[in-house]
Amino acid sequence: MAWQCCRQSTALLRLVVSLPISPDMKRILPQSIVLGRLRAAGLRPTRQRLALARLLLENGNRHVTAEQLHSEAHAAAIPVSLATVYNTLHQFIHCGILREVVVEPGRSYFDTNMDDHHHFFCESSGMLQDIPGELVSVGNLPPPPAGAEIRRVDVIIRIRPETRPSAASA
Ligand SMILES: [Zn+2]
Repeated sequence: MAWQCCRQSTALLRLVVSLPISPDMKRILPQSIVLGRLRAAGLRPTRQRLALARLLLENGNRHVTAEQLHSEAHAAAIPVSLATVYNTLHQFIHCGILREVVVEPGRSYFDTNMDDHHHFFCESSGMLQDIPGELVSVGNLPPPPAGAEIRRVDVIIRIRPETRPSAASA
């Protein structure tokens, strides 16, 4: 089954719940693996970087905002400013540990899933959900500008809860 790009339908919401969840989406990484990933990415594992990386990476694939991660850090008694959280997240993106998903101007999620995939974005709840890359096919791409090549296509399918007629009016 292939999703058509840019097609907005309330019917999509029903399909969200039936998307397969791969077994490794729930995997838990031990601290040594998180440490190894920081080192492999060329980042010195400072205490703050390691603490934030563990919050991000130890509980499977997830999408978080910088503000959510900042709150989680405070709840875990990790003293870190929001500015440091932003800086660290951008270092992680630069080193290929995370990717950023911009859903609208000024609103980004940081995604720990580095596999080829796309997203559903629910405009009413703000939830972002992965779609495996092979379920989306995008055709008729325009040629890139002179001197450029297409590196990747990111699809965000915007969804909303279905609006059903009420039983009383039926
Ligand atoms: Zn994702």
